Amino acid sequence: MAENFDLFEIDQDFHKEELSLRNKVRAFLNDKIRDKIADWFEQGLFPREIPRLFGEQGLLGSTISGYGCLGTNYTGYGLIMQEIERLDSGLRSFASVQGALVMYPIFTYGNEEIKEAYLPKLASGEWVGCFGLTEAEHGSNPGNMTCQLEDKGDHLILNGKKKWLTNGSIADLAVIWAKNEAGKVCGVVVQTNSPGVEFKTIENKFSLRASISSEAVFQKVKIPKSHLLNVEGLKGPFSCLNIARYGIAWGSIGAAEDCLEVALNYSQNRKQFHDQPLCSHQLVQAKLVEMYTEINKAKLLNQRLGRLFDAGKAQAAQISMAKMNNVSKALGIARMARDILGANGITYEHSVSRHLLNLESVNTYEGTEDIHRLILGQHLTGVSAF
Ligand SMILES: Cc1cc2nc3c(=O)[nH]c(=O)nc-3n(C[C@H](O)[C@H](O)[C@H](O)COP(=O)(O)OP(=O)(O)OC[C@H]3O[C@@H](n4cnc5c(N)ncnc54)[C@H](O)[C@@H]3O)c2cc1C
Repeated sequence: MAENFDLFEIDQDFHKEELSLRNKVRAFLNDKIRDKIADWFEQGLFPREIPRLFGEQGLLGSTISGYGCLGTNYTGYGLIMQEIERLDSGLRSFASVQGALVMYPIFTYGNEEIKEAYLPKLASGEWVGCFGLTEAEHGSNPGNMTCQLEDKGDHLILNGKKKWLTNGSIADLAVIWAKNEAGKVCGVVVQTNSPGVEFKTIENKFSLRASISSEAVFQKVKIPKSHLLNVEGLKGPFSCLNIARYGIAWGSIGAAEDCLEVALNYSQNRKQFHDQPLCSHQLVQAKLVEMYTEINKAKLLNQRLGRLFDAGKAQAAQISMAKMNNVSKALGIARMARDILGANGITYEHSVSRHLLNLESVNTYEGTEDIHRLILGQHLTGVSAF
């Protein structure tokens, strides 16, 4: 069991409710999803029943109080993300976008009318949401976006294109970031059945195959003024990304733990040379120990960051460090696990190559590894190197 990797006994520092939430989520995912995820990945399928299943378990927007949400603390939310990504980063991506990038901005910046209209439907998984910040020509620098929002007095008009929206083609609701006439970034909540909204699924992905990625076009889309979020500037989308990045820091280590568990088990059973198991060879042990060490370090970081979040003290630089470090280490761990499995590591029989390919996307989205390095470089030196 993965708990055995807990060398520093950090489980002792989780509250009883946090541990029971983690164990409940793990048991639910093992029972309902573990057997199916490799097939979904192979088929490039995100099953439509997932949102409702996750909603029933309270996995969507869990930190929100009321509106049908679980009302966990941030440590509990982190543990939920860790358990989902232990199975697959694509499923965690769905839950991250729905919770951190759609429900969080509606809860934080929306008026009561849209909170009541949308949050319960998103919490239950009846509705799916997506988040559009990235454009084809503006990824790491969203401040240069070209999507436009015009104020027409009693309503708003949205024009432009977005790319790489997770959940896009199946979404009922989209949180879209665009510039107003004054050039300020604003967020609007768009019902995707509005005239002028079109989504197209991005096919043929190597990575996050059990997750939907889409392009979106908005042509003269009429939006009620009540659907404008009460925040201006890039701090709007960045505040949402902070919550999602924090969840990714936890999630990526769930994937890494799964890889270590598979590699350790395999190395204890597979025999090569002198009828000895792989784990009896020093070079194999060195790899296993590196995986084990990085997982324990990352989990200590996550727990500390979770407590800072729960105390309302988490800072953007801390979140950047956790996202950058943990995803990068998880990617390295997935690679080492694949190596230990030899040829068998490239098959769907084992989860390690699926995690490896998924983590390539996780390393890129929500700020690439190098963008977080630049954020931290600026924080440390006071000099921007973007
Ligand atoms: C599967 C998937 C799902 C996604 N989901 C969403 C979503 O739901 N909503 C959304 O809005 N977006 C989403 N994205 C988009 C994602 O956030 C962007 O891909 C990411 O921000 C990087 O942008 P880019 O791909 O345009 O890369 P670029 O910005 O073109 O960067 C390419 C490379 O250049 C480097 N680079 C860029 N600028 C600098 C610099 N100043 N100095 C040094 N190096 C630099 C980067 O680190 C990277 O290595 C998703 C992406 C993927 C792959």
